Amino acid sequence: MHHQLKNLPKVELHRHLEGSIPVPLTLAWSKKYHLPLPPSEPEKNIQVKTPMPLPKVLERLFYQQRCFQDRESVETLTYEVLKDIALDNIKLIELRFSPGFMAEPKNLPFDMIMEATLSAKERAEKDFNMEVGFILISSRDLGNDICEETVDLAIRWKKEIVGIDLAGDETNFPPELFEKPFQRAHKEGLFITAHSGEVSHPSHITTSIQKLKASRIGHGVQAIQDPTVIQYLVKHKIPLELCPTSNFMTKAIPHIKEHPLKKFMELGVEVTINSDDPTLFGTTLTQEYEICMQSLGFSLEEIQKTILTSFRHSFLSDEKKKRAWKQHLHTLEN
Ligand SMILES: [Zn+2]
Repeated sequence: MHHQLKNLPKVELHRHLEGSIPVPLTLAWSKKYHLPLPPSEPEKNIQVKTPMPLPKVLERLFYQQRCFQDRESVETLTYEVLKDIALDNIKLIELRFSPGFMAEPKNLPFDMIMEATLSAKERAEKDFNMEVGFILISSRDLGNDICEETVDLAIRWKKEIVGIDLAGDETNFPPELFEKPFQRAHKEGLFITAHSGEVSHPSHITTSIQKLKASRIGHGVQAIQDPTVIQYLVKHKIPLELCPTSNFMTKAIPHIKEHPLKKFMELGVEVTINSDDPTLFGTTLTQEYEICMQSLGFSLEEIQKTILTSFRHSFLSDEKKKRAWKQHLHTLEN
């Protein structure tokens, strides 16, 4: 089954650049730039191998974050991440990153981060015959000024990217705090997705849709607790970007077998399967599909259906989607 799933042409909507740097590269980069590593068993301790609260998980991204030292690091690491994505047979990818978070260690200019990531994207699309779209993330905990700055950046580069996202601790930084900048991004024609209802209250999900104008929800696992939120998602055809391993590691669900992915599908919610931070959690998109089949009762046809759902809800341009369809994804319908 592993080979069959690996060979499927895939679409992924929810994946973080910062959480996708291959582990050997994080280690090599840390040595090259004399960056701190965990004092014991660094290979293991730069990853999340056992469930822990979301803020603790986010702290582990520290080691991957430190790798963004200069323009060259950003360019090389983005290219290597896209190469890794291509190796998993992902043909259409929406890769997201937080310029504020990446810039933090070395105070890199936001526009330089854009130039470097876009140059890597251009090379990777050619070298690996894949379609790539970037989503810029505003990190909640960096506050409202950085959010405004990230939205300004997204608007400035709107022809080169596909959308904007809000991520981080939702309980302490609820969606309504970011209404103004997100409405501004929406008016400029940027697509919006938001991490919501991951480990926090399900009511944040409807707030994110109404106030932030999100047309997709990152995770939204907690919707399972509130039938009115589920009805709202079904009625407005808002898909959930679900990430089984991540949801287990952040304690969004108590056990992988209790992941509500299949239940959402049966209730008529549009679901997509994603890897979130694959190298942080030691997974791949293929592995996430395998988990859905082995632990959540998905059939191969249902996996294929979720890939088509991802394709339909992708923020990429029609031109890019048509190209990916014609070259790779049309085989999913056979
Ligand atoms: Zn995420």
